[in-house]
Parts: sequence; structure tokens; C-alpha cells
Amino acid sequence: MALEIGYCIECNELNYAATNANGVFERANMSFNHEGHKQIVFGEPKNYPAPIRNVLCKLNAGLPISNNEIICFKLSMQLDMEDLYEQSK
Ligand SMILES: [Zn+2]
Repeated sequence: MALEIGYCIECNELNYAATNANGVFERANMSFNHEGHKQIVFGEPKNYPAPIRNVLCKLNAGLPISNNEIICFKLSMQLDMEDLYEQSK
């Protein structure tokens, strides 16, 4: 089972969903609480700056994420928001 990880630009909130039994991610799983919101869906962690990559890797590994890591993540997201959004479309 893999995680699909996204970020809602409007709520400034990280969200993620597991793929279904066939390994197919259903976007609807994740966007349920964010219907109609602009979202970034992340691809391979290695394609992102370190603070983002770190959080993506930890989520994938099921490891806890500290407050500091989330703060760095959000700062990094803000810097690259437009590029990331374009890239995830
Ligand atoms: Zn939202």
C-alpha cells in the first residue's frame, strides 16, 4: 500500500490517502474535505526541496513528523507554491 500525499493551498493543510487494494489512488479519497479547493499532489519525494522531501519520506515510512519539520515544510511550500502547483497539474 502506498500513500498519495497532497497539500491544500486554500487550507494550508497537508492531506494524504492510501491507495486502494489494487494500488490505484483515488483522488476523491483525499480531496473529500477539500472539494473544489486548489491542491498540489506530490510526486516522487526526490523531486522536492529537502524540507518537503523529508516530510514526504517520513509520511511514506509511517514515521512521526515534528512541529519543526512541519514549519519548515510549510515555509518551503510557500516559497515554491506556484511552481509546485503548476508542476502538479
Ligand atoms: Zn482545503
